[in-house]
Amino acid sequence: MGAARDALRQLQEIEHQIVDIKRQLRRKEGVVSAQEKKLAELRKSVEAEKAGIQRAQMDFNSLDVDVKARTAGIQKDREQLNAVRTNKEYAAVLKQLNNDKADLSRLETEALARLQTVETQQAALQQRLQQLQSEESRREELVDQAAQARKSFDTRLGELQAQRAKVAASLPPDTVRTFDRLSEHFDGEVLATVERTHPRRDEFVCGGCFLTVTAEVANALTTRDDLHLCKNCGRILTVK
Ligand SMILES: [Zn+2]
Repeated sequence: MGAARDALRQLQEIEHQIVDIKRQLRRKEGVVSAQEKKLAELRKSVEAEKAGIQRAQMDFNSLDVDVKARTAGIQKDREQLNAVRTNKEYAAVLKQLNNDKADLSRLETEALARLQTVETQQAALQQRLQQLQSEESRREELVDQAAQARKSFDTRLGELQAQRAKVAASLPPDTVRTFDRLSEHFDGEVLATVERTHPRRDEFVCGGCFLTVTAEVANALTTRDDLHLCKNCGRILTVK
């Protein structure tokens, strides 16, 4: 095992830990943003429900105005009924009175139904507001958890990055640049171990993409400390 490849292995090991920490942090932050999305949806529902209640309330108010007008009309019909002089007039006013009574009864039924709608919607809104409140405290908890995780990880991340810089300093800058580029691309999985696929034949594959690696490259890796990249996936090849 060459010194460069040994350093690359150390770098890979450190990189794994760094990537793992960053992944855990991303997960915590992902949970927070999912919760924020949920809250935004809830707030939208609350607004829609409030608007619905307002509409139902307005409908009720307008029906209530009609009920009052019709009640006054009936009162007037009754007064007229007392003042009529002929049977014909009496019959006409009585007919009007009965029509108005029927209308009033219909309007009152509608108004009552609208009032019940308002009450049902208000009860649902109260529940939704409670839900919103508890989801908001949940968001605060999650934000705290993410901040705590970041704090505890920051120290560890600092240590790992210092270790990484130390190991990287022992490698040629070109190699480090290649490593960094591959780490970015493969989410920290930079090295690929060359595997022998047959115990007696010189057949090898890249452990990263499982495509063929020539015997020359496999041999060069065991004898020299040069940098070899997989021709297919581009990872840095190494041997066990
Ligand atoms: Zn490969």
